[in-house]
Amino acid sequence: MANPSPDSPFPTLSIARHPLVHHKVTLLRDRRTPTKVFKELVDEIALLLAYEATSDLPLEPCAVETPLEPAMGYRVSGKKLTLVPILRAGLGMVDGVLRLVPGARVGHIGLYRDHDTLEPVDYYFRVPGDAAERDFLVLDPMVATGGSASSAVASLKRAGAVRVRVLCIVAAPTGIERLARDHPDVRVFCAALDRELNAQGYILPGLGDAGDRLFGTR
Ligand code: URA
Repeated sequence: MANPSPDSPFPTLSIARHPLVHHKVTLLRDRRTPTKVFKELVDEIALLLAYEATSDLPLEPCAVETPLEPAMGYRVSGKKLTLVPILRAGLGMVDGVLRLVPGARVGHIGLYRDHDTLEPVDYYFRVPGDAAERDFLVLDPMVATGGSASSAVASLKRAGAVRVRVLCIVAAPTGIERLARDHPDVRVFCAALDRELNAQGYILPGLGDAGDRLFGTR
């Protein structure tokens, strides 16, 4: 990951550098990639992004018995990580992250984008009750205008969350700027930062509608 530097135009953003991530994102962009493969790629990229986004999770020492002798090891400390996919495209990222962090809890945020105003409309919110003590990973393959991600983070903060990160596959500069303005404390991890949005709010060059491509609804 390229870590953000304070003088970067996107100080909250880390962009994946791994060659396998670039390779997989290019396959995702390809209009000929079928639904099954698209889903597998989203899953794999989500795991790789989560690996980076969890690289500073706090550890505590613990004792362990190997077959040969007692030893000291480490375990992740604190409450279980909570994944929060933004419905519906975020669902495509859940299993990949869960393979890396099998004990994570999964909340859900239902938002859809009004096609006229491009603003998010809230219809579902459910996360664990002890939000202040948890680390949250908001999952959404596309951060376009940033409206949905910003609204999801705001809902989590209203529920008490203080440590929130956003994982997305493709981001647009507009969305990253909006998130940084609304939530400067929230780091964003993406696989690719694209050029711009079109008039309909789609990311260019992007990969199309992630939800439709994941669920075969187009
Ligand atoms: N959501 C998508 O699925 N694709 C885009 O390009 C923008 C938002």
